[in-house]
Amino acid sequence: MGNDADPINMLLSTLKIGLVDGYGGLNLATDMQDVIFGTPYLTKSESNLGVLKEDYVNIVVHGHVPLLSEKIVEWAKKLDKEAKKLGAKGINIVGMCCTGNELLMRQGIPFAGHVLQQELAIVTGIVDAMVVDLQCIYPSLQDIAACYHTKLITTIDFVKIPGALHIKFDVEHADETARQIIMEALKAYPNRKKERIYVPNEKTTVYAGFSVEAIIAALSKLNKKEPLKPLVDNIANGNIFGVAAIVGCRNPKLRGLKFHEELTKILLKNNILVVGTGCWAHAAAQEGLMTPEATEKYAGPKLKAVLQAIGRANGLPALPPALHMGSCVDNGRIGVLLGAIAEYMKVPIYKLPVAGSAPEYVTEKAVAIGTYFLTLGVAVHLNPVPPVTGSALVTKVLMQDLEKITGGKVLIGTTPEEAAKVIIAHIKEKRNGLGLE
Ligand code: SF4
Repeated sequence: MGNDADPINMLLSTLKIGLVDGYGGLNLATDMQDVIFGTPYLTKSESNLGVLKEDYVNIVVHGHVPLLSEKIVEWAKKLDKEAKKLGAKGINIVGMCCTGNELLMRQGIPFAGHVLQQELAIVTGIVDAMVVDLQCIYPSLQDIAACYHTKLITTIDFVKIPGALHIKFDVEHADETARQIIMEALKAYPNRKKERIYVPNEKTTVYAGFSVEAIIAALSKLNKKEPLKPLVDNIANGNIFGVAAIVGCRNPKLRGLKFHEELTKILLKNNILVVGTGCWAHAAAQEGLMTPEATEKYAGPKLKAVLQAIGRANGLPALPPALHMGSCVDNGRIGVLLGAIAEYMKVPIYKLPVAGSAPEYVTEKAVAIGTYFLTLGVAVHLNPVPPVTGSALVTKVLMQDLEKITGGKVLIGTTPEEAAKVIIAHIKEKRNGLGLE
């Protein structure tokens, strides 16, 4: 309190923190997780609440940190026999939010839902345990779990919920904790309230695992020596008009708008390749946008031809048009991909025909990540409109002047159509700047 009061100074300080978040937070976390658990590669799985199985012991892992959830997957296999002794067919682990993204990307574990579906998972009546670590965990979960037989288990000392069972997780006791948690789920399984069971029969196929390494591996089937060449050539000739990264949360205030899905579809139709992370990935997967069939249905004709060529070289009818690059932390992967393309094209990132969008952002983290991309020189569409428009100066800096400093700027569009319009116009402007049609 009582320090900086100059809006320009404060905005510039915020940008610096965005850089720190990007390199010291996102990239570092992703790298360390890849070192410990492996780099993701192409995997096929399923999404939506229909991945819960009535005849299995179901454990939902929810939050953001893959340390505990990876251990739970490991121990679920070891304790499968115990579930069979109870009359279940085995143990079914499914993911929620970004823990779901992490497990899907590396292990092909089905993901049950995005942030707004965490309560609904419990309401199916067949979640025997929901295990949470940190972030995006609704405090209401225990009240809902109390209406069912579900054990809500918190695992981090600074994330507790009254009434939930707290089993502290630390890496030194990872095996013990994972075993204990699964035993709690097994204990809960016989207590299901049969009259309260309702599992929606909704699920879709999803192809995921698009780390930068996986994308390069797929492209190298077309050009082993210069894997980025097919991508860059197709951007240059306009078959791929541009690339948009759609990321971030599902916003309850935008209920019914399906901003993620509609924006993705409009961009694809305009031959813009879409990559993304976070709860966007759940929404896109549930909408059926992450399959080779989606390329046929949603991609514009030029983009479709490119994705079919890359797909065929990799044993698929087509590459999905919406590429799942991971959890919110994995937004660092998008920055790395942009860096690689820029380096190959020998231009700075701010000149690339690309844009970012967090069309339903909720969390502080989403704003921090958006700020990182502004520092990289990327135009970032934000919705809902950030609460800064009371200041004409701040609005002007974010939407115009910043472009002269980092090359990035904030774009506004409050409907999928408006958002697509500003993103497409921005990409067109960048193409013109590079002398591309
Ligand atoms: S995208 Fe947003 S709501 Fe979803 S898990 Fe990440 S931070 Fe939470």
